[in-house]
Amino acid sequence: MVYIILILLGVLNIVLFIRNRSFVVRIVELKNWVNKILSGSSLELPPDPHHDDLAELRQSFVTMYTRMEESRRDMEMNYQKLQLSSLTLEEKYAQAYTLQLIQEEIARELDSNQLMKKTLDILLGVFGSKWCTIYMVNEQKSVLELKANSGFAAAPVYDKIIPVDADHLVARACRERMVFTDADEAMAQGKTSGNIAIPLSGRHNCLGVMVMENELVRIINQDLIDFAKLIAQELSLSLENAYLYDKMRRMATHDALTGVYNRMYLMNYISELFASRPQIVSVIIFDLDHFKAINDRYGHLVGDMVLKETAQLASEMLPTGILARYGGEEFVVVLPEVSADEAFDFAEKLRYAVFEHPYQTDDGRWIVVTLSGGLAGYPESSDSFEGLLQKADEALYNAKNSGRNRICRAEKTAKG
Ligand code: GH3
Ligand code: MG
Ligand code: MG
Repeated sequence: MVYIILILLGVLNIVLFIRNRSFVVRIVELKNWVNKILSGSSLELPPDPHHDDLAELRQSFVTMYTRMEESRRDMEMNYQKLQLSSLTLEEKYAQAYTLQLIQEEIARELDSNQLMKKTLDILLGVFGSKWCTIYMVNEQKSVLELKANSGFAAAPVYDKIIPVDADHLVARACRERMVFTDADEAMAQGKTSGNIAIPLSGRHNCLGVMVMENELVRIINQDLIDFAKLIAQELSLSLENAYLYDKMRRMATHDALTGVYNRMYLMNYISELFASRPQIVSVIIFDLDHFKAINDRYGHLVGDMVLKETAQLASEMLPTGILARYGGEEFVVVLPEVSADEAFDFAEKLRYAVFEHPYQTDDGRWIVVTLSGGLAGYPESSDSFEGLLQKADEALYNAKNSGRNRICRAEKTAKG
């Protein structure tokens, strides 16, 4: 009996030992799992076939860990989002600030050439472009002319003139008033840089195109294009202002028909010239002969053509000084530091050139035009500019009265 009890106790002991051992193994397993999690690495916890308190505890741990993992992942995601939005916010702020600086810098500029130069410098600085170019549409709206270019790399081979209807990146950007890039083609051809053409849109039409050559690795992305478009908008506005200002200034100083200086400019010029105490000045007033007859015979439009071509001829021959339309078909040439003898030679050459010039009407008729001129020199003929003009006018009167198609010189005064 005692033996049987001893054997039963032995078996019980062995069962308890085995049970305790599996208990310990499960606890060690749980402990390792928790340690691994705390050290940052994840570990699969093997499924527990038991249905006891320890199994429940293990399950609670697993659930808690899973929830922790989920919330950690959420936090990480939110943090990343936050970081990303603060980055774009910073970028946007930088862009807005840059744009404000650009506005301040270029809005004040009324000289269109300076304006383009400044914009190119800004583009190079802001976009780190290799090369930047500005093309402007010509007056006839037929071609885009290269007006300004600048860059850090060696100058690329670029077209100086591009017809508006050409199959060209720049022409397309102008025609369709949209941004075009050749980045994809450049990449396919194994090139390292590509171009972006951004139209400069005026109120009514395309004014020109801004082209940036950028490294392809710098990614020609939508953000860059949008920002470049904003700069192009600013430049377009400032360019239109500058053009209007140029036009106004030109209208104030130039004659609308012939394009030479007008009477107001002439009077300012000559008074400033005399204020600077010149040594010698020659003045020629010339007037087309029997111009009324040309108008009467061929019409006013032909008369206008004769005035324009004569003014152009005289401008091209002018050695120095200025040419101005004094009124009607009368012009004045002021030649500072040119002696009366040299001025007379010039006047004679001009008279001959006008006589020789092939003025032709639209219907193919040739017109012979002559001019008469009066020349006066400072200081020999007068000591003031008003006096000089007066003397030249008197000399012109003499030329008219002595048969026209000639140049007469003013008499020298006693002082001269
Ligand atoms: P003269 O040889 O004495 O100078 O005779 P003229 O006919 O040239 O001079 P006149 O003063 O009699 O006539 C000048 C004409 O010029 C009269 C005017 O109608 C014309 N005229 C003035 N301005 C213009 C213009 O802008 N266009 C045209 N087509 N004609 C003009
Ligand atoms: Mg005349
Ligand atoms: Mg006249």
